[in-house]
Amino acid sequence: MAGRANHRVLLGCAIACAAAICCLLPAAARAADSETASSAVAANFPVASDVRLAGDDKQTRFILDLDKTVQFRAFALADPYRVIVDLPQLTFQLAAGAGTARRGLIKAFRYGLVMPGGSRIVFDLAGPAKIEKSYVLAAANGQPPRLILELEAVDRTTFVQSLASESRPDLRPADTVATPAAAATSFVDATGTVQPADKRPLVVIDPGHGGIDNGTQAGGESEKNLVLGFALALRDRVEKTGKYRVIMTRTDDTFVPLGDRVRVARNQSAALFVSIHADALPRGEGDAQGATIYTLSDKASDAEAERLAELENKADAIGGVNLTEEPTDVADILIDLAQRETRTFSNRFARMLKSEMKTTARMHKHPLKSAGFKVLKAPDVPSVLIELGYVSNKSDLEHLVSDNWRSKTVGSVAQAIDAFFARKMVSAGSTN
Ligand code: ZN
Repeated sequence: MAGRANHRVLLGCAIACAAAICCLLPAAARAADSETASSAVAANFPVASDVRLAGDDKQTRFILDLDKTVQFRAFALADPYRVIVDLPQLTFQLAAGAGTARRGLIKAFRYGLVMPGGSRIVFDLAGPAKIEKSYVLAAANGQPPRLILELEAVDRTTFVQSLASESRPDLRPADTVATPAAAATSFVDATGTVQPADKRPLVVIDPGHGGIDNGTQAGGESEKNLVLGFALALRDRVEKTGKYRVIMTRTDDTFVPLGDRVRVARNQSAALFVSIHADALPRGEGDAQGATIYTLSDKASDAEAERLAELENKADAIGGVNLTEEPTDVADILIDLAQRETRTFSNRFARMLKSEMKTTARMHKHPLKSAGFKVLKAPDVPSVLIELGYVSNKSDLEHLVSDNWRSKTVGSVAQAIDAFFARKMVSAGSTN
């Protein structure tokens, strides 16, 4: 039964709050998507159908309409001030733009899948606030089941103290990252014969963003979907050669923290890490177009590379996970040495990508750049991040959604991967 294991969940509580709630969303915008509704029924996930905000900058209330009661966990995070609500997997049928409704202490909120079976809502707060109450009401008086969150403004000291006293849940859904069994150990093939370890080089393909983190958005397209489609096609192309093993950091619309993406590559001793993204320029900041290939550096190659790395590194904050740096278990000096060699390989692969990709895709006027991308920080795995183009540019977006463009560009990236390993084999076979 819902609520049994969570003291915050009060079922059947007859708080007469509904009358005090003002509805901020136009009725037309609340129409549920019937197609999503039927698939949700099939999957039997609870449906979140509407959202309302009420109150002022002292006290703000958030109400989420559901079709059944759920258990949840709510907690706050500092710097920036956020409140996170973790829920079982929900089907969100909220109006487009629902999360931009600003009221009182809530500047905006995001929602989506954060791991298979788990959804999350992340609220950006206007200032320090405590969760005064959070509970789920069962259906009553013609109202559906509702999740209610009541926030109250506090000063920073009180906020920080409340964080310390709270029993902190594990913020990182790290263990949910697939550790595929495709590692280099012996395996049994389809005929039941034991085959020796698979020694083919491992390529990790990393579609950016996912789940609660949409990435850039324009023209009704989300970066997270565009890059997933590209990455899956690239996986198929690279696997088809039979020369490489491939692991994806995600194969569906799930949020994966940046550190976990790097960890997949390191734990599996990957030979190459390719992160796939699509960029966008903010409105009013001119137009840019074409693909860009990024490698890791301490100092950004230019202001645009710096802006982009900052943006991409925000993924963890968007997903609500903690931003604290992870402790390293290797001495810094070793990392430094490994990194130097790794960077040589990363840069070489980036140059190969450039020469292959320019045969099929339009490239940015400065197609090779570098900056401090967190996702490229595996010290021992050559890593490159490809921005396929700008979703903010009309003709780039046309390419990004075109099957023909994707197929050709996937082919050129696969070609570069092949060239990279061919060169590596030659180097390994020579005396230097
Ligand atoms: Zn991105």
